[in-house]
Amino acid sequence: MVNETATPAEAAAPAEAAAPGAAQPAEAPLSAASTPPAAAPAAPAAPRVAIVGAGPAGCYTAQFLRKRWPDASIVIYDRHDAPYGLIRYGVAPDHLGTKAIAKQFDRLFARDRVQFVGATDIGTTITLEQLQAEFDVVVLATGLWADRVIDSFQTDASAPVPSGVYGSGRLTRLINGHPAESTEGLHIGRRTVIVGNGNVAADLVRLMLTSAEVLASHGVTADVIAALTAGPLEHIDVVGRSPAGVAKFDVAMIKELAKLPDVRFTSDSAEPPASAVTPDAPTLDQAKAAAIRDLVDGSPATASRTVAFHFGFTPDRVSGGERVERVTFRATDPTALPATLELAADSVCTAVGFTETAGALLRRDAIASPTADLEHGRLADGLYCVGWFRRGPVGTIPANRADARTVADAIIADVEAALHTSPQLIKETR
Ligand SMILES: Cc1cc2nc3c(=O)[nH]c(=O)nc-3n(C[C@H](O)[C@H](O)[C@H](O)COP(=O)(O)OP(=O)(O)OC[C@H]3O[C@@H](n4cnc5c(N)ncnc54)[C@H](O)[C@@H]3O)c2cc1C
Repeated sequence: MVNETATPAEAAAPAEAAAPGAAQPAEAPLSAASTPPAAAPAAPAAPRVAIVGAGPAGCYTAQFLRKRWPDASIVIYDRHDAPYGLIRYGVAPDHLGTKAIAKQFDRLFARDRVQFVGATDIGTTITLEQLQAEFDVVVLATGLWADRVIDSFQTDASAPVPSGVYGSGRLTRLINGHPAESTEGLHIGRRTVIVGNGNVAADLVRLMLTSAEVLASHGVTADVIAALTAGPLEHIDVVGRSPAGVAKFDVAMIKELAKLPDVRFTSDSAEPPASAVTPDAPTLDQAKAAAIRDLVDGSPATASRTVAFHFGFTPDRVSGGERVERVTFRATDPTALPATLELAADSVCTAVGFTETAGALLRRDAIASPTADLEHGRLADGLYCVGWFRRGPVGTIPANRADARTVADAIIADVEAALHTSPQLIKETR
């Protein structure tokens, strides 16, 4: 667990308590043990809102709805004991400023009378239908938690994928102390290949080359540090599909890598082809390519650890015996040379995005009604979606604030229009 956020128990604690002097929530939120009370008193003046998912999208949505409806009952459910989703279990533990965003959400629970109900998986502990029966508005803010799998690693059913291929979601959850992750079977070795050139790939490079002492100072547990440093890692290849100038990482993430001691960086990047430079982002593209150049040029000529960036290669296959030994890539541009790239590896870390968990009970497309308006987060009557669950696994935490604003506006417009015509539409207090 990272050191600047509360432990799960501490984080959950203020969620249960109202700030001194603040009104307590009128009634207990629905839980697995709840049974609907028989009598129904007078209708409340504001709707009852359930938000599923206490990540940034759910928390920002609660903030906007609380601002508009000071008296609404707002309950946030999460399957984890403690709130904050990927702020807690994704964001790198050494990114203290980003982790600290969670502190503003603490106020929701401590002061703004939003209730947090943890350890409650909607779909299993409580069904979506049960929630909809109890609340006027249900907002799904469940994110996307499964590592996207690289299909070409799995095409030959007769030759199973060798062990040693790890998704970035698993690794970052592990580093962040997720209670369901363990180091069992984790073997990074001396050489690893990171597939992907976004910010999560950059996080992995940095964290894997950070000293045990520094990791420990950020709250990373001893068993995880032991697993990460066992090799010890001597070489990392980072391979992305695009040219450097249009890679997905932010320039600041590359600049941060320059602070790692005793690392030599290399890159096989050529200038991006003209077709890859879009008219609206030529400056940014140049900045990205320049950031890589500066990183390489500023790194020492010799060092005990090396990181090689390769741009313009698409993953083709992993091979080896029981464990991975090699990863092969082909040039994304079929006319480019070399046409293939073959890298020796003790392990492979995929950082190519996120998707729905296989067999997930809450799947957006299965839930959306034929009249769904996804642009504003409307899934069905009284049912909304926000954050990564609404728009896919792209965007940083601030993007979820803008998203929450859009969806909260749609919810407010719908509820207030319904109240205007039929005040009895608001469900009676239970
Ligand atoms: C590894 C990684 C690192 C990142 N680093 C940064 C960074 O440094 N800076 C930055 O700005 N952005 C970063 N991001 C992006 C940022 O984390 C996302 O933009 C943001 O978390 C998405 O918010 P969300 O609320 O939609 O989803 P999430 O944060 O995933 O929250 C979803 C919540 O829903 C809960 N949930 C899911 N299913 C259920 C269910 N059935 N019942 C109950 N609860 C459920 C989950 O437990 C979770 O708490 C990172 C992302 C990743 C993956």
